[in-house]
Amino acid sequence: MASATGDGGGSVPPQTTKVEACAVTEEATPGFIPVKECLSGIRAALKHPTVRFLREKMDQAGCPVWPLLIQAVNCNHASGRYTSGRGITVCCNQIRYQDMIDQVLIHELIHAYDDCVTKNMDWKNCGHHACSEIRANHLSGDCHYKREMLKGFLKIRGHEPECVKRRALLSVKSNPNCSDTAAKDAIEAVWDICYNDTRPFDRAP
Ligand SMILES: [Zn+2]
Repeated sequence: MASATGDGGGSVPPQTTKVEACAVTEEATPGFIPVKECLSGIRAALKHPTVRFLREKMDQAGCPVWPLLIQAVNCNHASGRYTSGRGITVCCNQIRYQDMIDQVLIHELIHAYDDCVTKNMDWKNCGHHACSEIRANHLSGDCHYKREMLKGFLKIRGHEPECVKRRALLSVKSNPNCSDTAAKDAIEAVWDICYNDTRPFDRAP
């Protein structure tokens, strides 16, 4: 994905699209919303203040995210995906409610942002991918305690970094260029820098 294009332009057709950054689906439960509802959910998510903020920042960084770059599809084991040069896919068959669509869009927009502003972003590089997953899981609120509680993962306050690490690891492990060990090592290596890198937010929302 991103690496091959090299320019980080989110709207430039890629030469290769092998590696993808994704948001993981941690559990599969029946009751997913119909595609039509999913599409109107994507339109609604475009009005979410954080989504608007991120799209504005992408515009300013020179990588506008047109609604056409956001697609509704069916996927396995992921709720969303960002592919450099192609855009964002929302996996409707993994979505159960509007909040999930908002989350997927925010998460994937952070990958798109990283792809846009990081010089020589290489999605095949486990460290680069790990950094973007840490940021996407941290800054999107994927690990907000209410969402964790819904999934039965809540332990105590302060679980947030653990959740970010767990989810980032699942995503980096799904990168064909990163073995389980490489994914784990990459996350540890970049953790401090990337967890504390809250761009384009002033601080973690
Ligand atoms: Zn991701």
